[in-house]
This record gives sequence, C-alpha cells and structure tokens, in this order.
Amino acid sequence: MEYQWPSGIKRTRQREDVFRVLTQAEEPMTAMEIYHRVVAETKDTNYAISTIYRSLSAFEEHNLIEKTTLMGEDMAVYEWKREQHKHYAICLNCRRKIPLKECPMEHIPICTNLDEFTITGHKLELYGYCKGCQSQEKNN
Ligand SMILES: [Zn+2]
Ligand SMILES: [Zn+2]
Repeated sequence: MEYQWPSGIKRTRQREDVFRVLTQAEEPMTAMEIYHRVVAETKDTNYAISTIYRSLSAFEEHNLIEKTTLMGEDMAVYEWKREQHKHYAICLNCRRKIPLKECPMEHIPICTNLDEFTITGHKLELYGYCKGCQSQEKNN
C-alpha cells in the first residue's frame, strides 16, 4: 500500500526518508532501527540520529505515529498509524514481535463505567515466550 504524504506537514528530505521507512515497516521500530534503515537506503553517511528524532517528533505532533515503550525495553518504538491497527505478542526472551491476527479488544466487553468517556483508541501488547524459546527452555 502506498501512503500519501500527510497534509499540513512541511516536506523535507529527512522527513520523507523517515516517512518511507515507517510506512513500509512490518513492525514497530526504534529510532535507532529507523536510523540504520534510512542510512542503508540513502547511503547518506551524514545522517544523524537527532535528525531522525526531530522527524519523528514532527509526525508525533500531528498524531501520525504511535510511540510505545515496550515492557523491558529502554527505547521507544514507533509505528505509523494505519487504518487497520495491529497488536503484537512479544517474546520476553528473543524480543520477537508476532502480530496478532485480530484485535483482542473486539472480543473484550468494555466496562460500562465509561459512559462519560469517548474511546478513540487503545494500546495492547501481549508478553510471553515464542515457540522457539519455549522449546529451548525444555531442552535446557
Ligand atoms: Zn522467543
Ligand atoms: Zn486493537
């Protein structure tokens, strides 16, 4: 799927690079991962990590990206907000992120004390151990 440049955001080459990487990413990425991807794609060795952070905060101000700090990690991960949002099961051992096939929230009745609150979104991550790490445990 091709993403249109978001209206209302000044277009710079650096922002375009971050935009391209984020909209093509299969899963949430840290600023460092975005940085390495951008450098690998552009072959531009003058890139600085601070440039990536600046572009990210511009997108964040416009509510275009989701910033999450996953349990047990120091660095935040960033994901482009898509119409079809995703959730991940994250392995506590190898940090693999496995996308869930559907949104679990669709199956969870929301408690009714939220009459005075309009829900516009949610965040949810599942933690545990992936198949590979489970069998490793058994062998040890
Ligand atoms: Zn694992
Ligand atoms: Zn959901």
